[in-house]
Amino acid sequence: MLSPGRALAQLVSRTLDCDPSLQLVHLNKAPCTGVNERTFLAIKPDGVQRHLIGEIIRRFEKKGFKLVGMKLMQASEDLLKEHYIALYDRPFYSHLVKYMSSGPVIAMVWQGLDVVKTARAMIGETNPADSRPGTIRGDFCIEVSKNVIHGSDSIESAQREISLWFHADELMCWADSTEHWIYE
Ligand code: UDP
Ligand code: MG
Repeated sequence: MLSPGRALAQLVSRTLDCDPSLQLVHLNKAPCTGVNERTFLAIKPDGVQRHLIGEIIRRFEKKGFKLVGMKLMQASEDLLKEHYIALYDRPFYSHLVKYMSSGPVIAMVWQGLDVVKTARAMIGETNPADSRPGTIRGDFCIEVSKNVIHGSDSIESAQREISLWFHADELMCWADSTEHWIYE
């Protein structure tokens, strides 16, 4: 068992390791890794309209991940076209951009060990019909085109998406006092 002093020192050193400027996409900068890994999540317009904000945030918060950025915003079509650029040639692309810009979304950055992969597991499959009960899409939605939440699919996508949606000064480095009960 760590003494309170050592636990605090460990927390502070972890916190100082967490540099928001690392989220800017610079080709020669190392990604945030380990407990400082970050992902971009967004509660989509249907999730906001259906009053799922609290329920969705609760799941990531209770899991033990750390919220380091959050804002309610109506995203422009330009931002969404860029966000979904990899899907440019898919038949649903323009419908997707319209849907995502149709109302407010909650844009968030969450931090923690393996947060990119774990958040995707908590979200479920792209199509809610293939998502197991217990996942967000498995529990709260039915159709692929109204699937309530976005989550980055890789560390590289997370870095790109975080820098697209957030300025570095909108991301908070803060010491979570429960961290020594979550990590060794
Ligand atoms: N989408 C859709 N129809 C499809 C596939 C995807 O409307 O047949 C939408 C859906 O909102 C999905 C988003 O496009 O979440 C992005 O697709 P992607 O394959 O990246 O899925 P995700 O990473 O969100 O699971
Ligand atoms: Mg995707």
